[in-house]
Amino acid sequence: MNDAIRTDTIVAIASAPGAGGVGLLRLSGPRAAAIANALGAPTLRPRHAHYARLRDADGEVIDDGIVLWFPAPNSFTGEEVVELQGHGSPVLLQQLVARCIALGARQARPGEFSERAFLNGKLDLAQAEAIADLIAAGDNRAARAARRSLDGVFSRRIDTVVEQLVLLRIHVEAAIDFADEPLDTLGGAQVRRGLEQARSDLALLRRDAERGRRLRDGLHAVLIGPPNAGKSSLLNALAGSERAIVTDIAGTTRDTLRETIRLDGLELTLVDTAGLREGGDAIEREGMRRAHVEIERTDLALIVLDARDPAAGEAALGDAVAGVPHKVYIHNKSDLLKAMPALDDPDRVFVSAATGAGLDELHARLRSIASAGAGEQVDGEFSARTRHVDAIERAQEHAQRADAELVHEHLELAAEELRLAHDALGDITGQMSADDLLGRIFSSFCIGK
Ligand code: GDP
Ligand code: ZN
Repeated sequence: MNDAIRTDTIVAIASAPGAGGVGLLRLSGPRAAAIANALGAPTLRPRHAHYARLRDADGEVIDDGIVLWFPAPNSFTGEEVVELQGHGSPVLLQQLVARCIALGARQARPGEFSERAFLNGKLDLAQAEAIADLIAAGDNRAARAARRSLDGVFSRRIDTVVEQLVLLRIHVEAAIDFADEPLDTLGGAQVRRGLEQARSDLALLRRDAERGRRLRDGLHAVLIGPPNAGKSSLLNALAGSERAIVTDIAGTTRDTLRETIRLDGLELTLVDTAGLREGGDAIEREGMRRAHVEIERTDLALIVLDARDPAAGEAALGDAVAGVPHKVYIHNKSDLLKAMPALDDPDRVFVSAATGAGLDELHARLRSIASAGAGEQVDGEFSARTRHVDAIERAQEHAQRADAELVHEHLELAAEELRLAHDALGDITGQMSADDLLGRIFSSFCIGK
């Protein structure tokens, strides 16, 4: 895959949409320099800035600017790359793109430059994803973490475990070929120790990748509680929009709705779940199933109760949120209370989604949980995505099973589990990823990247 030669030349505007001081056009592919010459650029020297007047088919000047040529393979994509810097006018830049296309280039798909860099071995998949995360980073810490992933900090951690797994696979598969001998005489103890090391490295990697995912995505929270407690109203009050549908018919919130709010640089995603209750029609049951999936992966449960009868709401909840690390009990509709009893519990707040009372206190509480959730900033912190954490988790499961098979001297099964663990990690760096996974990842990038 890495030595595939792409014969077409792609073009896109690489600067941000809209007007700006400078606009940037990027070409990548074998005809990049030829197209620049046809536009009016002089004979290009590698990595030199050339002034040029760029012309349309009639010789009329479209714009003037700077042309830079990066011959293959010393470019971002590993292919011949030309960058045209002109005035930051969307109209002029579009004319230049159209002219490049007339001269034989093709409009690049979103993320196609990064995809080519990946396919040409300039970056691995985790690094390519870090480019998109760097561009989208919401604060300094997330940007620094994405920058480290782009530099390969995360990839090197994965490669280290992959090397350990490869060694183990070689040992175990060699032992299979000497099937009559017990593994111990062929270094069984050594294999077990090696696997133990790989598993403890995987556990650390998972912890650090989870931290990196939180830096990127923020803490994940769900709003949960009985029908009509005011979850949708509260979601809207916190997010400051009319996003969720508010009704007074119990059970209207059937889907999970997402709204993201930013608290001190951390993103808090609120999910308005279906009221948890037995029965209901098929659509309602589907809503409940999704609610349970959200609860399983959440860091924080915001439990919304009707302040007039909180005990009933809590009873209806059962042990649904038992495994959630952080919980806040929100006694909503405080405006309907005749008297507000004292709440000694720091995890309980009175609010009114209707009047806004208590929302500041709730915000403060969420902020402190969000900053505690991200933890202390640590050296070498890198960014990661949910799909990376999931892949590490899969690798851990297979490594654990490999260990169990080794105990029983089931060498073939152990070898297979080690292969699957190796495959799972390969998905992160893209060493063995299916084309559809690659397509999904790169299509979420912006054009020109
Ligand atoms: P959900 O089913 O938990 O999402 O509840 P909704 O947000 O749809 O609200 C149910 C009903 O309670 C609606 O009629 C809301 O207007 C009302 N409601 C929500 N919050 C408050 C509040 O703080 N005070 C009062 N008085 N009514 C509220
Ligand atoms: Zn609702």
